[in-house]
Amino acid sequence: MDIINLKDNPKLYYVGGVVRDELLGRESLDVDIVYEGNAIEDCASIGEVIRVNPDFGTIRVKVQGREVDIASTRTERYDNKGHLPQVEKIGCTLKEDVLRRDFTVNSLYKSISTGEIFDFTGGLEDLKNKKLRVLHDKSFVDDPTRIIRALKFSHRLGFELEDYTKKLRDEYLENIDYDMCFKRIKKELIETLGLNSDELFEKFINEKIYKLVTPKEVKWPSAGIENLVNKYSLNSDNIWLIYAGVLLDLSRLELTRKEQKILDDFNELEPLNFENDFEIYRAFENKEIESIILFAVLKDEKIARYYFDNLRGIKIQITGKDLENIGFEPSPKYKEIFDFILAKKLENPKMTFSDEINFVKENFSD
Ligand code: ATP
Repeated sequence: MDIINLKDNPKLYYVGGVVRDELLGRESLDVDIVYEGNAIEDCASIGEVIRVNPDFGTIRVKVQGREVDIASTRTERYDNKGHLPQVEKIGCTLKEDVLRRDFTVNSLYKSISTGEIFDFTGGLEDLKNKKLRVLHDKSFVDDPTRIIRALKFSHRLGFELEDYTKKLRDEYLENIDYDMCFKRIKKELIETLGLNSDELFEKFINEKIYKLVTPKEVKWPSAGIENLVNKYSLNSDNIWLIYAGVLLDLSRLELTRKEQKILDDFNELEPLNFENDFEIYRAFENKEIESIILFAVLKDEKIARYYFDNLRGIKIQITGKDLENIGFEPSPKYKEIFDFILAKKLENPKMTFSDEINFVKENFSD
């Protein structure tokens, strides 16, 4: 963990996930460092200052070729529940700083200079017992994104919510205040549902965590998503949306254009009684992969798998240029010809380019 030489400063601490993960013997995703005091005033001399954010008391410095973010210890207040907190005091004690954190296991500090661990909330005991415990009764009311964070950590670490924390969570989920910051909810959904796990998703639905996104009742999907994603979705950034799409009401989340297109494409796909492969191919060919997986999950898994497994890879080779070369003037007839060749190719995917040309000549020359 000692990635940088900041050891000379006795007021610098690792905090959060990096301390938790080291104690668990796990690789950490990122490193959070906190300075007990005002980091902007006191840490500028540590290295080259890259950026400061006075509102939060954070500073980015370059030390030995590496950029490091250092946060000041701070206290926060939630005047507007469910929204970003107000920063109250920058440069407080560690013991005060800890109160703004989510779970005890994320509230451990490790001195960078001595390696000593500071545990103000019983985080070490909870780490041992694999429990996620909030620091106070209003934690989820202040910040409901912590409910999704709890799901993420319980899945990643194999931890469980401690009983009282679970009770507080369930009470909140029974009585959600939808006046909250959905941008933050979305960010946690992306990280959490993006883990692509049916097991996690089952908890998301069964434990009613999805209610944070919509008050509507949600039906359990008929197909497993994890397997479909692993088999068909390549490396999508939008895996989370396949899961979230099951809720059918994402009106509170601000979606990007690409995300909206995925939902629109899905809505356009109706589980019609397709007459033949050609109809299936034309219905799916320009749709986003995520939309087709969502179709598999909510509408017709068999047809979607059939398209992916048997039809998706088939492409006709002949182009408009080729048609011109064999003497066809550009016209709406081109579409008729392409449809004809595609239908033939779906019947016989081994058709070569010259087979395609011959078919055109045989069937469309006067
Ligand atoms: P990982 O990086 O492995 O996902 P992490 O614990 O480092 O886990 P971050 O989201 O990077 O998670 O947050 C760093 C720390 O900031 C947390 O450990 C926690 O102490 C605090 N934190 C982050 N988000 C919240 C929140 N919504 N409420 C309270 N504290 C939070």
